[in-house]
Amino acid sequence: MPGFELFDEKERKEVAEVMETGVLMRYGFKGVRAGRWKAREMEEAIRARAGTKHALLLADGTAALTTALAALGVGSGDEVVMPTFTFVASFESIMAAGATPILADVDDTLCLSPEAALKALTPRTKVVMPVHMCGAAADMDALRKLCEERGLFLVEDACQAFGAKYKGKFVGGLGDAGCYSFDFNKIVTCGEGGAVVTDDDALYQRADMYHDHGHGHDNDDRGAEGHPFPGYNYRVSELHAAIGCAQILKLDDFLRRQRRNKKPFKDALSAIPQVAFRRLPDSEGDSGTFLSFFMPDESLARAAAQAMKAAGVEGVFHWYDNNWHYVRNWNHFKERRFANPISANLLEGMPDYSKADFSASDRWMSRCVSISIKLGWEEKEAVSMAEKAANAIKSVL
Ligand SMILES: *Cc1c(COP(=O)(O)O)cnc(C)c1O
Repeated sequence: MPGFELFDEKERKEVAEVMETGVLMRYGFKGVRAGRWKAREMEEAIRARAGTKHALLLADGTAALTTALAALGVGSGDEVVMPTFTFVASFESIMAAGATPILADVDDTLCLSPEAALKALTPRTKVVMPVHMCGAAADMDALRKLCEERGLFLVEDACQAFGAKYKGKFVGGLGDAGCYSFDFNKIVTCGEGGAVVTDDDALYQRADMYHDHGHGHDNDDRGAEGHPFPGYNYRVSELHAAIGCAQILKLDDFLRRQRRNKKPFKDALSAIPQVAFRRLPDSEGDSGTFLSFFMPDESLARAAAQAMKAAGVEGVFHWYDNNWHYVRNWNHFKERRFANPISANLLEGMPDYSKADFSASDRWMSRCVSISIKLGWEEKEAVSMAEKAANAIKSVL
């Protein structure tokens, strides 16, 4: 999956171009940058892909989520509904914005269940934040309808799904704002990077200012404007952006390779009657970064994952046992072990997650196994890896 698997002279050339001028800052220095604006170039490429009016490139996906929420005016006392299966960055970014993360169950899509999201709403809910996990879209029609009916913002955490589509549209471009990550493990990587996309002019302006200390960037003299509000420094550097400029041009090739390499896995596992696949609300739009499936029960899932690893299958995940992606092992969060005291408002508003019942999520996640699909595999390597995976699964049944 990660785009770094296919780094070549194109990324090196982009980085060298930045180093030729030595201007690593995305703003200013017009006289010495020889017309090189890598962050702007990457933003234009993201915007064109996402089909949105605006794209803001910034330091990472977590910063993108925080910035999107802050720019929407979401903060202290507001609740953001998010799924139990995601990377820890989802709740971290909500808390960084000062808002309260409200966890709701996932279903067989491995994404936020629209019914669970509905049940999680309170008068304080401002945002529903689905996460397009493992490269494929959530049930967006139902989630969008929910947000429209209740007057809520829809913010997509599309950090793992750059390149995935839902009914012909890029994920991230379906709600009020969408966020991508280009960190080192994502399909398109800048090393570290993220983006906010939106069609909303005012939201984009606010995000743009928030991510750079409140500065506006309408003219060349950054800092000359009135500072409507303070922000943070979530800027991206030109070096990171440069790598992204080379990577994003490879996206179509990446998607083609991943779908090609995923197919033998799907075919081989389809022949095992005890294996059931993740439900994809739009299977055509799947970016192919993972094949995810359900074993008959938790112990068989664990055994299948272990057998695959032992057989040399790379990138096997039984997320239920993993402490970054699933609520079951988010003990630091559930036990409220924060680095520094968090605001009383946030603390009091937060449900007691050490006692919360997420058995509906457990039913799916305990049985779920994902195999990460490599970009770098030749087709025949994918075929032989898929055979190994299928044989390992059969050996535990
Ligand atoms: C990677 C990821 C993020 C955070 O992105 P970073 O760029 O690593 O900060 C957020 N949400 C999800 C679901 C992710 O996978």
